[in-house]
Amino acid sequence: MPDSADNLPEPLILQRAQHPISRNDIDREALKVLYRLRDAGYTAYLVGGGVRDLYLGKKPKDFDISTNARPGQLRKLFRNSRIIGKRFRLVQVFFHGNKIIEVSTLRCRSEFDPKEEEEQVLASNNTFGSEAEDAFRRDLTINALFYEIENFTIIDYVGGINDLNDKIIRIVGDPERRITRDPVRIMRALRHAARNGFTIEENTWRAILNNIDKLHLCPVSRIRDELFRDLHGNGVAPWCRLAISSGLLPELLPFYRDIIKAEEMEAEERLNPTRFLLSLMTVADRLHNEGQPLPDHLLIACLMLPWAQTKFNLINLRFKGQEAYAFSRDLRDHLDKLLEHLSINRATRETITSLLANLPIFIQYADERDWPKWLSRKSYFENGRLFLQIFQESQGGSAANIQLVEKLPERKSKPRKRSGRRGSRNATFTSKKGGIFGLKGH
Ligand code: ATP
Ligand code: MG
Repeated sequence: MPDSADNLPEPLILQRAQHPISRNDIDREALKVLYRLRDAGYTAYLVGGGVRDLYLGKKPKDFDISTNARPGQLRKLFRNSRIIGKRFRLVQVFFHGNKIIEVSTLRCRSEFDPKEEEEQVLASNNTFGSEAEDAFRRDLTINALFYEIENFTIIDYVGGINDLNDKIIRIVGDPERRITRDPVRIMRALRHAARNGFTIEENTWRAILNNIDKLHLCPVSRIRDELFRDLHGNGVAPWCRLAISSGLLPELLPFYRDIIKAEEMEAEERLNPTRFLLSLMTVADRLHNEGQPLPDHLLIACLMLPWAQTKFNLINLRFKGQEAYAFSRDLRDHLDKLLEHLSINRATRETITSLLANLPIFIQYADERDWPKWLSRKSYFENGRLFLQIFQESQGGSAANIQLVEKLPERKSKPRKRSGRRGSRNATFTSKKGGIFGLKGH
């Protein structure tokens, strides 16, 4: 990172003919905001992931805008807007159809670089900064580009264009320092490497390995949010590979510390926990890429399955009488503890328990031509069958039927009145109505 604002380098400027970003690919409302700012005499840029994705020919998830206008000035300029955020204020501009464009004022430091640790006080000595300062406070070079609509140029202070061309993930500035200040940047580097199939530059990789244990210093809520962004992205299997080889996975899920091993990623045995996890995530990726992303409960059930297999030999369990219920209670207690830090809501945790605890039952009946009626009537039947299919596909079986994801469990039949008969087949799963199986929702 440069020492002071005086030392900031000259940017590389790509003229319109030198880059592939076209205005036609930019969201209409984002363009309106950019033009309104320009017409009012401010500078305005498209920044962050939007520029990165457009350059790569991908459809951006959102379009973030940065400007030299201050939040108060933005509020005056956009009547339908509000200021959010305490320390680093951001303006949300509202459009028809619940559309929101977020506009931030160029900053001199990231909200995650604590002020007292600033070794060099940058020029403006307050929150806001120049274009260059804003680029240098960003996480990755590929996320630090500016696109401006006056001449349609891309402005690059940090070598992001070269890194996009060379498919390289590089932390802006000194990676050791930037990661120490905000260890969540480790997760962001791995995410973008996994999603884009980019290589992590050597110094960045070394800083990741050196500081992986610092992640626990970050607020759990941030880690959780970043983890869920990873799980919901396309490329969970490549992400898992990087999370395993960097040591991130056991930081996030400590119960995998002695189970998942980097040297076993190519294990021959399909049920080897490391290979098993990667195979399950490959199925999740396939479904995602075919437009059927898995919901949280199925993703987390997949994430937990290799653990459950290691701990209980889950897929070979066969229950008699009340055993299934007792097992599910035990499993739920384990999951409650293991997943506590991810603050997953109770209903989702129960669904995850149901998916895992019932998997051996689905496996047991999978070979029969018809599902037993008592099973097909269960509220969790569709979910359970899909989970079975995901498991089977991970083991080399045929592709899971993605159509199933769409109609996740509507209750097929009305709940039956309790017969009061102990040991009836329905009671295999729960001894109480509204117990941990037979869940609503999801
Ligand atoms: P996505 O496509 O997943 O939204 P993104 O890069 O846009 O990717 P955001 O979380 O939306 O990710 O962040 C927007 C921008 O803010 C990033 O591109 C990056 O420049 C900057 N940023 C986000 N988090 C950090 C951080 N921890 N440190 C520094 N800069 C960050
Ligand atoms: Mg974004």
